[in-house]
Amino acid sequence: MTNNRLFDDASQRLQLALKYVDLPDDVLTSLSYPKASLSISIPVRMDDGSLQIFQGYRVRYDNTRGPAKGGVRYHPNVSPDEVQSLAFWMTFKCAALNLPFGGGKGGITVDPKALSKMELERLSRGYVDAIADFIGPDIDILAPDVYTNPMIMGWMMDQYSIIQRQVCRGVVTGKPLALGGSQGRNSATGTGAFYVIETLQSQLDLVPSETTVAVQGFGNAGAVVASQLAAAGYRIVAVSDSRGGIYAPQGLDIPSIRQQKEASRGIQAVYCEGTVCSLVEHQVITNEDLLKLEVDILIPAALERQITAENADQIEARYIFEVANGPITSAADAILEQNNILVFPDILVNAGGVTVSYFEWVQNRSGLYWEEAQVQGQLQEKMVAETQAIWQISQQQGISVRTAAYVHALNRIGAAVTAKGTRT
Ligand code: GLU
Repeated sequence: MTNNRLFDDASQRLQLALKYVDLPDDVLTSLSYPKASLSISIPVRMDDGSLQIFQGYRVRYDNTRGPAKGGVRYHPNVSPDEVQSLAFWMTFKCAALNLPFGGGKGGITVDPKALSKMELERLSRGYVDAIADFIGPDIDILAPDVYTNPMIMGWMMDQYSIIQRQVCRGVVTGKPLALGGSQGRNSATGTGAFYVIETLQSQLDLVPSETTVAVQGFGNAGAVVASQLAAAGYRIVAVSDSRGGIYAPQGLDIPSIRQQKEASRGIQAVYCEGTVCSLVEHQVITNEDLLKLEVDILIPAALERQITAENADQIEARYIFEVANGPITSAADAILEQNNILVFPDILVNAGGVTVSYFEWVQNRSGLYWEEAQVQGQLQEKMVAETQAIWQISQQQGISVRTAAYVHALNRIGAAVTAKGTRT
């Protein structure tokens, strides 16, 4: 049965993991509800002079291990249920990577592609005006997520600083470099996912030149992981964006596709030499078709609930690496497990983004800025160490990698809940 509420489905993963940890009931009790949720209406003066009201949210799911941390999503389907689920996942993601943060998330129900740049700026500043009392560098820290970017983070940081009457860099991560952003933050989610795959290469018997990969979603995360895998010799046979995808069994030239996509020309099966591009042989496929391709590695890098009880039986990949948050439902997890498809969960695979967000926050607080190589080195060190630890738990306890990741995170959250004692 599929849960209608995304959050109910998300919490099932926690229930499952609790069987494998020895923690007091307090831990589950304290993790069953968000610490605080805020719903706001944001008035925006549109370019044509009319007034529009947008719905926005911020959820602080947990702050036992540190300030809440998580992105802000702009999407027409953003709902309180989705934001709460995303905040829940952030809690476990930060703990799985041992970052001194809890979990939070925000969002606005909006199609940002339908707004002008000025409208987008007014909306982003209006969002911060409405949540300013709820966030802060030691309370709850914002970042990019689906359809938000460094430019928007710059506006948000600036607006918060205006309200506070002092420069507050640490309240937002994923900012432009010019405003105190970190080297490597923009590509960090994709790069982190690449390090996870690379770490497991020998355990999973992956020989890059013989390994085919399909990537659903060619945004900030999907395009980067596709590029890095391609550069390491993997054969990327399919990619897609919200409008659909392309499939070429012989392999796609990812740098050329990226060049077109970045020039706002969508996903095209091209091979480019300089600015001269020609189409290569390919099939046009839907996002749904892409998921069902017979490939070694499937990478959902778009939105949640892509693989459900309805299509899980048709998945032919050997391994799935979740670069999106929540792309597989818990009912689908069970079917995939039965079919011997190994799933590597979002809270590990896409954690590179928040890891470099943490580095950015550290740099903002210290006032010392790191070279790109230092960021990459520390990101790699963290991703490798936590991937190995989670893999080991999964092997030793005979449990799925997802449950192992939750166990790993829960042990850390549990220690903090216990250390805090009771103050009820
Ligand atoms: N939105 C990203 C995520 O879901 C990054 C969050 C952050 O950097 O705080 O992990």
